Amino acid sequence: MIKNLLQISRDVASSFELVQGAGGNTSVKCDDGRMWIKASGSLLSDLNEEKGFTVLDYGKIVEHFCGGFVFKANDHDLEDETNAFIHTLANGMSKPSMETSMHAFLGKYVVHTHAIYLNVLLCSKGGEDRTRNVFARKFDGLHWVDYVNPGYNLGIAIADLNLNVRDLNVIFLANHGLIVSGDSLGAVLGLSKEINDIAASDLNLRIEMDDLETVEEDLYFSRNKLFFQFDDAWLKKNLSRSIFPDFVVYCLGKIAFCDSLEELKGSCDKLIFCVKGEGVYYRANRRKAQAMHELLFTQLFVISSVEAFGEVNFLDKNDENYITNMTMEKYRRSRV
Ligand SMILES: [Zn+2]
Repeated sequence: MIKNLLQISRDVASSFELVQGAGGNTSVKCDDGRMWIKASGSLLSDLNEEKGFTVLDYGKIVEHFCGGFVFKANDHDLEDETNAFIHTLANGMSKPSMETSMHAFLGKYVVHTHAIYLNVLLCSKGGEDRTRNVFARKFDGLHWVDYVNPGYNLGIAIADLNLNVRDLNVIFLANHGLIVSGDSLGAVLGLSKEINDIAASDLNLRIEMDDLETVEEDLYFSRNKLFFQFDDAWLKKNLSRSIFPDFVVYCLGKIAFCDSLEELKGSCDKLIFCVKGEGVYYRANRRKAQAMHELLFTQLFVISSVEAFGEVNFLDKNDENYITNMTMEKYRRSRV
């Protein structure tokens, strides 16, 4: 089983266009009732035979969700209680992915990605119709989930779909990403990539990412040309809101705008510095800087791509606040 999990995780992790930062997760279910799933806070690319994953009895999660436990969306206490219960199922292994509950209601192989080109459709107003128009003629059995906060809330939403787990299921998550699940590892993986590729060619999109330059210890720099396509007012407006949860986790409220890095260096609590005419600096260790870089440019790319044909659907302020306060998100952020 671990071999299969490693195969799908590495395959997905190798593509920035499918997952950014510590985003995305994968799982494989055994016939004996155990599920192998990515651990919370580890990168998909970190997984190996010894670490980065956890194993648990997923039937217990299904029982928990269906056994009279009262669910209320966006309730931190109920969410913490559910996550604590799921953690106990891991029997001392690493804390499972915050998305473990939704995996329990899906098929043998599950690949959840933050497919960047697909997200252009998913983060636009009227995104459901647009997405169905693009994909309905290509695949059967498409499901759409309106935006819900990740983790426990997404678990409830996926449980409510009442899917037949033997089917190949494709689920579009508004302002979030894609889930593909089914009995065939090849089909699940292939479809995850194909759907993103179709969105890219349908909308004629392509992002060019750059490698971070090291300025000094815990300070990294990007001169990505996308940054120079926008004026200050556009950047400030579009980086003060979020279009998907991971931007809230890694970037929201941590960005400063200045004319020179010296203006802010050392004197402020921000971690990301957009310096006019120069580029973007990240004050963090390499791993976290890389995650912030990927999420910042994903947001810029997705918003500018949506603006080419429609209107951006930003997250609600209440949802941004909810995510900021999620215990699990704090844990995940501390690990990367
Ligand atoms: Zn996700």
